[in-house]
Amino acid sequence: MAQRQSGKLLLRRAASLAQQLLQQQQHVTGCTAAAATQCRTFSSKPLWASPCPHGPPAFAFDIDGVLVRGKHVLPWALEAMKKLTTPGGQWRYPVVFMTNGGGVTEGRKAEQLSNWLGVPVAPEQVILAHTPMRDLVPELAQRPVLVSGRGDVLQVARSYGFQRVLHTRELAAALPTAAPFAKYPLQAAGTERGSSTPAVASAAPDASDTAGTAPFASPARAGAAPAPATHGSAAHPCPVRDLGLATEAAPIDTILVMTDPDDWYRDSQLLYDVLTGAGVPTRSPASAAAAGAPPVKLIFSNPDLLWANEFPRSRFGQGAFAHMLLSIYSRLTAGARPHHVTYYGKPNPQPYRLAERLLLSQAQQLGLHLPQVAPGELPFSGIYAVGDNPAADVRGANQAGGPWVSVLVRTGVFQGPGPNCDVDTARVAVDDVAAAVDAALHHTRNLRWHSMR
Ligand SMILES: [Mg+2]
Repeated sequence: MAQRQSGKLLLRRAASLAQQLLQQQQHVTGCTAAAATQCRTFSSKPLWASPCPHGPPAFAFDIDGVLVRGKHVLPWALEAMKKLTTPGGQWRYPVVFMTNGGGVTEGRKAEQLSNWLGVPVAPEQVILAHTPMRDLVPELAQRPVLVSGRGDVLQVARSYGFQRVLHTRELAAALPTAAPFAKYPLQAAGTERGSSTPAVASAAPDASDTAGTAPFASPARAGAAPAPATHGSAAHPCPVRDLGLATEAAPIDTILVMTDPDDWYRDSQLLYDVLTGAGVPTRSPASAAAAGAPPVKLIFSNPDLLWANEFPRSRFGQGAFAHMLLSIYSRLTAGARPHHVTYYGKPNPQPYRLAERLLLSQAQQLGLHLPQVAPGELPFSGIYAVGDNPAADVRGANQAGGPWVSVLVRTGVFQGPGPNCDVDTARVAVDDVAAAVDAALHHTRNLRWHSMR
C-alpha cells in the first residue's frame, strides 16, 4: 500500500515537472498567440541541437539602446567591454556587434565603435542591417540595382561588389518631374558619385544606430543651386541617361532599401514607379505586362517599426516606411502586393547565420579550445544576444535556436512594464549591458563547473 502511494506520488511529481518544463519552453520561445505564426515560420530553418556546455561563450551586442543612446555612449557599455577584454585590449571571447542600423561601411562603423568603447573593433565584428546583402553579389553584381536609404549606401553597395547600381537621388535627378517636391534633389547624386568626398563622409550617419545622427547635409538646405555641375558629366555619368539604368535597355532587377530613406515622399513615389513599371519608372503597368517584363524584387534591410534616440518616445524606423510604401501600393493596385518582398535584419535569420560564421572564425583566430561538435552544431556554450528591442533582438535570438540566448536590457526601447516582455520573452532580463555580461559569464562558469564536477 505504502509502495503504491509512493508510486502515485512519483507519477504526480513527474507530471508536475513535465508541465513546468512545457511552461518554461513556451516562456522561452515566446510562442504566445501573437508570436506563434512567426515561430512556425522558422521551424523550417536550420536548428542547432542542445547547447555545447564545454564550449566558450560568444556575444552579439545590439548597439543603439544597449551601448549608445543617441549621441551618448552608455557608461555600462564601457564596463561591459572591460569584462570581455584583457588589460592589453585583446578579446577574451568572440564578439560581434549586430545592429539594424546602417548607412556606413562595416569598416567605418568599426572605427566608431573602437572610439566609443575604447576597445579594438574589427570590420569583421560588425554586422549592419545591410551586411547580409553581400551574399546577393554573386547573383546581382552585373544586374541593375536601385538602392534607397540615407547615409553612404551607394558607396556601401559598391564596396560589396554591386557594379550596376544607382541611388534614388540619382533617379530623381535624371527624372526631375517624377518627384518634383523632393527635398534633396540633385546635389547628393552628384557628390555621392565620388568615392570619399567630405560631403558624403559627413552625411553618412547610421540611420538608426549611431551617435552621429545628424540630418543629411545637403547643400539644398543652404539654398544652393539645384543642379550640380558634375551631374551627368563625363567624369560622373548619369546612370539613367548615360548608362541606361532603369530604362527598357536595363530595367531595375532588384531594389535594396539599405537604410531609412532620407526623403520618404521621393522614395515612396519612385519605388512605386519602379515596382509597377517592372524596373522602368516611366513605363506603365500595362506596358510592362504587355512586354512580359519580370517583376522587380524588393528587399528591406530591416523591419523595425521603431528605434530609440534621446527623444523621450521611440521614432519611426524603416519598417514604418515599408508599411507606408506597401500600403500605397496596395491601394493603387486593387489590393495587390509586390511579387517579391523580403526583409533582412533582426529578427530575421540572415544576420544570425552570418554572426555564427563570424563568431566561429573569431574563436578559431583567438585560439580558443573548441570542443568537437556534430556537423551543423556550434561549439559555444551560448551566444548571448544582448538587445533592447523585444520584437527584434529577443525574438530574433529566440528564433535562431541552438546556442543563442536572448538577453533583454532596459536602456533602450524596452521600458517595461515588468522586468521582461510578455510577448517576446527573453531568457535573461537585466538592467543594462554590464549586468548582461555578468549574467552570461556567471552562466558560463556554472556550466563549466557542472561539467567538471
Ligand atoms: Mg537597439
